[in-house]
Amino acid sequence: MSSEVLDEILERYESVIGLEVHTHLRTESKLFSPSPVRYGDEPNHDVHPIDLGMPGVLPVLNERVVDLAIRLGLATHSTVHTHSVFARKNYFYPDLSKGYQISQYEEPVVSNGWIEIEVAAEAGTSVRKRIGITRAHLEEDAGKSIHDTAVAGRDGTHIDYNRAGVPLLEIVSEPDLRSAEEAGAYLRALRQILRYLDVSEADMEKGQFRCDANVSIRPRGSSELGTRTELKNINSFRFVEEAILAEIERQAALLDEGGRVQQATMAYDPGTGRTHVLRLKEDANDYRYFPDPDLIPLAIAPERIEAVRAELPELPDARRARLESELGLSSQDVAQLVATRSLADFFEAALATYGNAKVLANWVLRDLLQALNERECEVADTKITPESLSGLLVLVDDGRLTVRSARELVPVLVDSGGAPETLMRERGLEAVSDVAELEAIVDTVIAANVDIAEKIRDGDDKPLNALMGQVMKQTQGKANPGEVRALLATRLRGA
Ligand code: ADP
Ligand code: MG
Repeated sequence: MSSEVLDEILERYESVIGLEVHTHLRTESKLFSPSPVRYGDEPNHDVHPIDLGMPGVLPVLNERVVDLAIRLGLATHSTVHTHSVFARKNYFYPDLSKGYQISQYEEPVVSNGWIEIEVAAEAGTSVRKRIGITRAHLEEDAGKSIHDTAVAGRDGTHIDYNRAGVPLLEIVSEPDLRSAEEAGAYLRALRQILRYLDVSEADMEKGQFRCDANVSIRPRGSSELGTRTELKNINSFRFVEEAILAEIERQAALLDEGGRVQQATMAYDPGTGRTHVLRLKEDANDYRYFPDPDLIPLAIAPERIEAVRAELPELPDARRARLESELGLSSQDVAQLVATRSLADFFEAALATYGNAKVLANWVLRDLLQALNERECEVADTKITPESLSGLLVLVDDGRLTVRSARELVPVLVDSGGAPETLMRERGLEAVSDVAELEAIVDTVIAANVDIAEKIRDGDDKPLNALMGQVMKQTQGKANPGEVRALLATRLRGA
């Protein structure tokens, strides 16, 4: 789709988006059975009769999920209900052998909250915008149908029930989002909160964080909502935004032709960049919801909510605001530092032993992040410690290690850990700080470059860099450039 076509559409129509996110809760076992929750196991190895709804079995609630739901509720400024109800949502699907999914319907555990996202405003600035959370409810995941011909043969389908019964929190937003970009920002903010809270790993590639996007459009200026369609199960951040844009375009073309949008469930095909109708929208009453007779209502004592509240970690927004005001770092730097809880923890721990926040932030955001990105891992999963990074920076400050050598050591610390001082010695990186030694090298270089030296003596600064380069080369980069420059200047001009 060309961006001019889209821009023209967006001048006339405003898009309205509400998202339903399904996130796997971080638990050892399933929502109602003792079978383990693991990723990548052999198909049908993590299955219990309860997951399949075998006759005579009874579900038993995994208490751990309750605390996780409370956490998410509190972190999103929502009401956590002391009374909520599990309901059966009845439908047939081969990967749902019970014939119903246990979910929550009229009485969810969490409702009526909000999170904040950052949206672009005029001239490169940004503003914060509140997005309402309608509700969050507990439910079990279904199994997985595998249509892959390599696994199931040409006409076959296999079913893997490992995922059946994995605990999910479905988090439903208000239709407060106004563009594909805002939808992307909301998903990132929500995922960041879930990860800070340890509620979910929220890894999209593992299917732990899935999103349905409800999209409608309306003429700009109108305050009525248009008819929405629902884009199902989009599995990457990029595709969410692409799919929403494609759907906006499809709906605009319909309206422009004088047609109307039909409420439907849609799929997005990344190959063609288009959306298509899967089925016309089912109604809630098609599912014949009723309270699950095997489960009593979920009662949460107010004390339990308070106990979870007391243990909540500092959330990304609060942490960002605190670091900005305490340390005077730029908001872009702070946003990157708090991107993950482990990086923010690392930074703050290093700051405790190395006082200069600005310098530390530069090293973390430049060298450390680069090493982490190359290895696609989080700092907590590597060997570098906050103490070793601050120790490295102290060596630089003391003039014992050049910036260049220190930068070489960051990936070494990440991979193998160790004490910076020992590493420096072992690798012969200790800076040439012996003045006599450095003076001797400077004098040799001056003697070998009489012409250049003459120019510098006459007041021309430009060739100084050439001489510096030669001195640095002879010291194998282990001299402090500032010191070399000063020495050259004194030797040549006696300043
Ligand atoms: P359902 O249960 O049928 O999916 P809900 O009322 O729970 O319906 O709404 C699901 C999602 O659709 C919510 O995220 C909500 O914000 C969003 N939504 C509702 N109306 C609209 C609309 N007109 N345009 C865009 N999104 C909408
Ligand atoms: Mg829905």
